[in-house]
Amino acid sequence: MRLAVEEARKGLGFTAPNPAVGALVVKDDHLLGKGWHAKAGQPHAEPLALRDAGEAARGADLHVTLEPCCTHGKTPPCTEAIKAAGIRRVFIGCTDPNPAHAGRAYAILREAGIEVFEEILSGTCQELLRAFARVQRTGIPYVSLKLATSLDGRIADAAGTSRWITGPESRERVQAFRREVDAILVGTETLRRDNPSLQPRPAEGHRPWRIVPDRTGSLPLTLKVFSDENRDRTLCLLGPEAPADREQALDPAGVAWMRVPAGPEGLLWAEILPELAKRSMHHILCEGGGKLSADLLSLRLVQEILWFQAPMLLGQGGRPAIAADILFAEAPRLRRTAFEALGDDLFARYLPTSS
Ligand SMILES: [Zn+2]
Repeated sequence: MRLAVEEARKGLGFTAPNPAVGALVVKDDHLLGKGWHAKAGQPHAEPLALRDAGEAARGADLHVTLEPCCTHGKTPPCTEAIKAAGIRRVFIGCTDPNPAHAGRAYAILREAGIEVFEEILSGTCQELLRAFARVQRTGIPYVSLKLATSLDGRIADAAGTSRWITGPESRERVQAFRREVDAILVGTETLRRDNPSLQPRPAEGHRPWRIVPDRTGSLPLTLKVFSDENRDRTLCLLGPEAPADREQALDPAGVAWMRVPAGPEGLLWAEILPELAKRSMHHILCEGGGKLSADLLSLRLVQEILWFQAPMLLGQGGRPAIAADILFAEAPRLRRTAFEALGDDLFARYLPTSS
């Protein structure tokens, strides 16, 4: 199953609205075939692994990270392909998070006389599916919040300088996270100040969407997100007060836009995020700044915090990672699930205790 997970990981960032899935065909400890789902509309991992194994699949075992599909979508049901290939045993990583389908494949396969083993390495397999599962269950994207701070929790000095607080190992890890998500979100002021390109390096391969909040429609169109070669992967969020001709300014550049609601404190993220999920943005990496991070945290819309902490101190004039006053009693409580030294920096992953 670990090998099947490795196969599945190749599809991360590419498969939405489908999940990343990997499959292997194995007989007598020999690997006969493998497959991974590359893109919605293209074959699922199971038929690819079965095709790779060919006739040798007869009487073999199939290992797959997610319960096979059993309904006709853009491709025929995988349960039928498994039956037709003569597979003897199926090992499944985790159950389909869609309540309408959960467990149905188990029954279909068992009725066909196939032995089914459920929840193999299920923690790892569920982790792979966490964004897909959240959208299936709630209609809201999975939001990872990346923070790159000094030891005293600052993301820039008093003058606004922020490059670079963290070291090259941390920044390379951020690139790896960018390659696995559907979209990258940053706050308006960060865009204005840092003019980031928000694409993973190297430039070829996966190009996540860049979500650009521009409530008043006043961000300069010379910013990289509006003018570089990836501008067709920018989605601009225009608030109600953005001028009507702003859309005509974005269209010729090929920049996508949508009108979004706003309140007195800013954009209404609780209403906006489900709209992003409908556009197949299931996993969103938020890279700050302080106000956006505070807004998403206060709305309980952050599912994990990826915290890079550099051995540096920026003092009280520096910009805080979370630009909000939080009372002790209302402080979000977190649970640490990973901890690692990256060069001179520390990396930790935290999950909110409420989720
Ligand atoms: Zn399938």
